Amino acid sequence: MDHRRLAEALREIVGPDGVIAAADDCLVYECDMLVYYKGAPDVVVLPSSAAQVAAVVRLCVEAGVPIVPRGSGTGLIGGAMAPRGGVMIGVNRMDRVLEVDLQNRYAIVEPGVINLALTRAVEGRGYFFAPDPSSQMVSSIGGNAATNAGGPHALKYGSAVSHVLGVEVATGRGELLWLGGPVQERPGYDLTGAMVGSEGTLGVITKVAVKLTRAGEAVKTALATFDSIEVASEAVSAIIAEGIIPAALEALDEPIIRAIEAGVKAGYPADARAVLLIELDGPAAEVEVQAETVARICRARGALTLRVAKDDAERALLWKGRKEAAGAVGRITHNYVLQDAVVPRSKLPEIMAQVQAIAAARDLVVANVFHAGDGNLHPLICYDERVPGQFESALEASDAILDACIAVGGTVTGEHGVGMDKAKKLALLFSEDDLAAMAAVRRVFDPRGVMNPGKIFPSHAACFEAAPGRGARPVPEGMWV
Ligand SMILES: Cc1cc2nc3c(=O)[nH]c(=O)nc-3n(C[C@H](O)[C@H](O)[C@H](O)COP(=O)(O)OP(=O)(O)OC[C@H]3O[C@@H](n4cnc5c(N)ncnc54)[C@H](O)[C@@H]3O)c2cc1C
Repeated sequence: MDHRRLAEALREIVGPDGVIAAADDCLVYECDMLVYYKGAPDVVVLPSSAAQVAAVVRLCVEAGVPIVPRGSGTGLIGGAMAPRGGVMIGVNRMDRVLEVDLQNRYAIVEPGVINLALTRAVEGRGYFFAPDPSSQMVSSIGGNAATNAGGPHALKYGSAVSHVLGVEVATGRGELLWLGGPVQERPGYDLTGAMVGSEGTLGVITKVAVKLTRAGEAVKTALATFDSIEVASEAVSAIIAEGIIPAALEALDEPIIRAIEAGVKAGYPADARAVLLIELDGPAAEVEVQAETVARICRARGALTLRVAKDDAERALLWKGRKEAAGAVGRITHNYVLQDAVVPRSKLPEIMAQVQAIAAARDLVVANVFHAGDGNLHPLICYDERVPGQFESALEASDAILDACIAVGGTVTGEHGVGMDKAKKLALLFSEDDLAAMAAVRRVFDPRGVMNPGKIFPSHAACFEAAPGRGARPVPEGMWV
């Protein structure tokens, strides 16, 4: 189907104001927040109902046109972009909270609902939506489900997969299905689990049933400073080894603290070499006891200072610093590559030393802000695109960090997902048979290989996919899958 006929057919489904077909306008959608993977769609369609999404999917499946679902585009994986062109389905107009049932602690939302908007809708009644990626002010719940998003509070509450009870999805077969739903422990295969983290490769999520979590009676947030990120990392393992699972346990090193204080001014000691942001929540008496234990462990493990936020305003400011850290990095570098990887928690001190060595060997600075309690690293490798060769060095460092994480028994994503960025690494983690089984599951939902092609799988495991085509832009060698 040619471009003009495709756009016309889409207008018939969603109306004229729901289709963006001019090449210049489509450029706005050429990347997610990992901006060096580029591929503009041929057409962007903005449906306002599940029925419209399903009709668009059916049209594309019949015509063999690639489909790329997109929420808010905050992904950090080369996910909501179209290396092979095709139709991008932006779900932002589907942004209604359809049902809130506090008695049974769930909500049903459309996929374009912004993460924080759901918490805002229920917090006055003592509830919240627990997955809290730092992008929660802008990222969509559909995108959170599709990437199995985490966040600082995933340590205690779990990532999106623990909070998505069911999804309605327009699959690559063109059908509209409900998988799971508000009632827990449904019999049969856990197909909701298969959809969470599938990054748009099985279908477009059109509704999400999510758990609502009761807010704890008490919360305490503390900031402990350390002499180095390695020493801070040792304290992390010691806290968890004591049997305490904080609501959040975040680590930040000196470059990121400097960036935050230059930008956000969150009250982190500007001369600290490393800090841990520790949050405890639950029944007041339990929080009190745990706070004393955590303070004792931090001091025994070399904390230089430990300050507990005295009120909600101070607590909110400490979190503002953490949540806006990635944006604040612009204060210390022209560009950066942000990675996401996981190591066993006990390996944190070792991997932090390796990350520093990998960056130093390439004359680069690396800033670290991460979900230490989960062993989930987020090195931000700083570079200046105006300096010839620095971008390539930063990519090399990023690759070397992933390999180092795998070598110590870790993996290549903790929460951001795979997208284009990590696809080639999957072959290091899974056998041919493992990948073939995943590709077979994909074929069940997407027999024609039109759903978000080029993502997640190394090319050999998803060999039914269409050949690379229009819309693709050159990316550094070795990055295509
Ligand atoms: C500053 C910053 C901080 C971040 N912090 C965190 C963090 O703490 N934790 C974390 O996990 N992530 C974090 N992220 C990454 C990102 O915000 C998450 O991955 C988020 O879940 C993406 O949501 P989105 O709506 O922006 O999805 P998009 O970027 O639009 O899409 C992400 C992927 O999901 C697919 N998708 C989107 N919507 C649908 C749908 N309705 N149906 C099917 N597939 C769909 C897309 O095709 C794509 O593959 C951060 C990003 C930024 C920029």
